[in-house]
Amino acid sequence: MSDSNINMVAPPEGVVGEGFFATKLNDVVGLARANSLWPLPFATSCCGIEFMATMASHYDLARFGSERVSFSPRQADMLMVMGTISKKMAPILRQVYEQMSEPRWVIAVGACATSGGIFDTYSVLQGIDKVIPVDVYVPGCPPRPEQIVDGVMKLQELVKNESVRRRSSPEYQELLASYNIK
Ligand code: SF4
Repeated sequence: MSDSNINMVAPPEGVVGEGFFATKLNDVVGLARANSLWPLPFATSCCGIEFMATMASHYDLARFGSERVSFSPRQADMLMVMGTISKKMAPILRQVYEQMSEPRWVIAVGACATSGGIFDTYSVLQGIDKVIPVDVYVPGCPPRPEQIVDGVMKLQELVKNESVRRRSSPEYQELLASYNIK
């Protein structure tokens, strides 16, 4: 691949002069965070297979700085929930979320994680947002890898534009409190 085919991430808005570039700290932090989201794949069923394809060479999530998959919640900031989550599994998912350090984001991948999908039964959680806050929902049963990549790009936009103060804001504390998460 020649260099002309490589798209660099655009710099944030700022003031450019000879030998200097001035911008907002918020924008720099947002840019760095958005392009280094480390995923924690919480895959319980078929949608997990689509995630494997998303990570593989054809779709190559590494293009977005997300090739470093973490199975330790403490070294991940993007929780990707893929698959049917039973009510028995819900406390485990919540525990994993609680073990992640701030800032942390969540993508519900596929119909099951988003709403329980076709499993409208007594044993299946009808959407992971019953137990943890969700930032992006990816529709589909299963979603194609393109949709998962689109979900990650949507999250990148959120992350890029998030204020560095959001996590200590009363609104965010209120959101966590509504889930009884400290
Ligand atoms: S949304 Fe469809 S493909 Fe994904 S885990 Fe549920 S049943 Fe499987």
